[in-house]
Amino acid sequence: MHSIYEAALRRNAGEPEFHQALHEVLESISPVLREHPEYVEAGILDRIVEPERQIIFRVPWTDDQNRVHVNRGFRVQFNSALGPYKGGLRFHPSVNLSIIKFLGFEQIFKNALTAQGIGGGKGGSDFDPHGRSDAEVMRFCQSFMSELYRHLGEHTDVPAGDIGVGAREVGFLFGQYRKITNRHESGMFTGKGVGWGGAEVRTEATGYGAVFFVDEMLAVSGRAIEGRRAIVSGSGNVATYAIEKIHQLGGTAVTASDSSGYIVDEDGIDLDLLKQIKEVERGRISVYAERKPGSRFVAGGRVWDVPGQIAIPSATQNELNEQDAITLVKNGVEAVAEGANMPSTPGAVRVFQDAGVLFGPGKAANAGGVATSALEMSQNAARQRWSFDDSESRLRAIMSGVHNAAYEAADRYGAPGDYVVGANAAAFVKVADAMLAQGVI
Ligand code: NDP
Repeated sequence: MHSIYEAALRRNAGEPEFHQALHEVLESISPVLREHPEYVEAGILDRIVEPERQIIFRVPWTDDQNRVHVNRGFRVQFNSALGPYKGGLRFHPSVNLSIIKFLGFEQIFKNALTAQGIGGGKGGSDFDPHGRSDAEVMRFCQSFMSELYRHLGEHTDVPAGDIGVGAREVGFLFGQYRKITNRHESGMFTGKGVGWGGAEVRTEATGYGAVFFVDEMLAVSGRAIEGRRAIVSGSGNVATYAIEKIHQLGGTAVTASDSSGYIVDEDGIDLDLLKQIKEVERGRISVYAERKPGSRFVAGGRVWDVPGQIAIPSATQNELNEQDAITLVKNGVEAVAEGANMPSTPGAVRVFQDAGVLFGPGKAANAGGVATSALEMSQNAARQRWSFDDSESRLRAIMSGVHNAAYEAADRYGAPGDYVVGANAAAFVKVADAMLAQGVI
């Protein structure tokens, strides 16, 4: 395993986020490999760390002043052993090949855990939608899709949203795909509006799912969300609906953040106000404190300084470091679920696990989003539409299945209560078995 990791480091030089994701998975699957030498003999590890296909392309577009801009587009089709590539698109200035590969690699295992028959992929661009007009965003999305369309399809590769890609961007991307292909296959993109092929609960799914995962972890020791305070970071899609579900289950989420700082509202975050500022006005989080008496805005700073029993990091990778984890533990945190992908640094994860804090890694805790995307694909294929309640109960059942798969695999592979080992082991076995059966491809 060491030699595979070293070879991957050499072959993917200068890609620290991808190295971090590789290390976390490889570190935790050694008990699986001891039981299954056939995986090693068939070169599963050598193959699984190498994407099946990586596409990098130029995205030229013009702004409202007719100036030309050039961004870079990415799609990494990482593994299709379990089904068509599936994973979101991220538009953020920090996007590069390392970030897309780390996300694509994680996605393989997350998707396996959902048991929905989907492979792993991820894509995006270093385009920053912040401060851009709707017309500029539309022109960018059209240019992006004018190249990417040839690699997509409902049975080939199915993107969705991620950071910077919400309902507006999905609409423009999907529209351009239909226009240039003349193929009106709604199942080639998920996260669509509910009036045009989208599924109920897809918008809420990642945040709701992360909270269901917390609920499952707490339930093992007879605890519940009710009466507990939650610290949530971010104020986008995942954070908003994590806060909503925390409140519905009787907890109180007292924080939200963006890249400018965080807010604290001891009464519990007012979701109507948060959605108005973030979803409608696309404003900064400080506006919340200006409008809501009794709340406060902290510029910069660490949202993890605020005490609470539940923490749901829901902004971006490596946003919660070892020192933050020490602070959270000191303040009595009992359960952490990663709404974002890889938001906790390896040092932070160690602190939580050493302190006996329940820790749900992103590939398990935030799998509700992609699972509900797979439900959207099923509904599109069958030309059906399921109700909100029906979809939410399916999401709940899937999250329970993800939790149990990780919990049981942790036990089976000698690391009881360790959801990192459990999630990686359970997912790896599913993917490895499929790769083994399908030959060296
Ligand atoms: P959004 O774009 O809706 O929201 C992202 C939030 O995180 C914003 O509040 C943003 O603030 C903040 N943020 C982003 N980058 C940074 C940064 N570098 N520093 C500080 N704050 C930052 O994205 P989502 O809610 O969709 O995604 C959040 C996380 O969840 C990501 O890690 C994503 O991969 C993961 N995820 C999302 C899924 C989904 O269904 N949407 C599914 C599974 C995982 P600002 O506006 O100031 O940038």
